[in-house]
Amino acid sequence: AAKDLGKNRFMVFETRMHEQLLSRLDQEARLREAVHRGELRLHLQPVVALPDGQVSGAEALVRWQDPQRGLQQPGSFIPLAEETGMIIEIDRWILLESCRTIRRWQEESPATAPAWVSVNLSAVHLDLPDLTDHVAYALATTGLSPHCLVLELTETVMMRDLAVTSARLEELRQLGVKIAIDDFGTGYSSLGYLRDIPVDVLKIDRSFITGLVGNARQQELVSAIIQLGHTLGLRVVAEGVEEADQLTLLTVMGCKFAQGYHLGRPQPPDELRAGLAVPALARTVTGS
Ligand code: C2E
Ligand code: MG
Ligand code: MG
Ligand code: MG
Repeated sequence: AAKDLGKNRFMVFETRMHEQLLSRLDQEARLREAVHRGELRLHLQPVVALPDGQVSGAEALVRWQDPQRGLQQPGSFIPLAEETGMIIEIDRWILLESCRTIRRWQEESPATAPAWVSVNLSAVHLDLPDLTDHVAYALATTGLSPHCLVLELTETVMMRDLAVTSARLEELRQLGVKIAIDDFGTGYSSLGYLRDIPVDVLKIDRSFITGLVGNARQQELVSAIIQLGHTLGLRVVAEGVEEADQLTLLTVMGCKFAQGYHLGRPQPPDELRAGLAVPALARTVTGS
């Protein structure tokens, strides 16, 4: 009987594995089609300048309008896209769509359009020899000025070959685009690579902003990161600002840019644009 039980258990296990594999293959196939079927969506989250609260730029964040499951957040498909290499196609689509959207907006409503757009790039792009060509192509074909484009990379890229990474990033900067380190403070040897890697923007990870209010030690840390960034001539952006008190503290600390639900959610470009069409003085910083 014990033997039978063991066998049954094994079969249950095997069936579950089989189902998981099938569902993964199914999702993979559908994700592969998503790009070609036009199911990807560009959302934009405003980044505001402090202390005036004006929208300065926007971060491009991908969504997947899955016909079976509805609107999907990146957390549910980016890991699979990275494993399978599909992230390259997804990032390229977002890059092109972001450049096109911001360029059109700047042409049509120069007074209210974001001055720049920030696009996330998975670290795998740094292995592709045609990355710079591709970015140059996106700029040329849309007409967006290189100074209006920021490319965001996470600190994991710094765990790669530093010489290769620096060379790639320098090539991109030669085009005139800016490089941002995303989720700053969560990765390895943050300070070591700041010496060697050409970057323009630091985005302080949300985990440093959560719990900022009432935590003197954390305030000292964030304040030090802001000062360090400014000393190095970098633009510093605080991510994940959810409360007015966090914004006040960051402003007092001299932080010049912030992003978060308190300032505006990621949303379809048309919605953001409709919100920004209201004259700035009539807008409130807390609108989301
Ligand atoms: P990220 O680049 O650090 O983007 C910020 C994430 O924080 C976004 O999540 C945004 O919606 C969320 N967020 C913004 N403000 C707040 C806030 O006040 N509170 C909280 N709790 N969250 C906030 P999202 O859109 O789910 O994206 C998650 C991550 O997926 C991104 O983190 C980025 O690493 C990745 N991702 C998104 N779009 C792309 C893309 O087009 N390409 C690549 N390679 N990665 C992307
Ligand atoms: Mg980002
Ligand atoms: Mg981030
Ligand atoms: Mg992130």
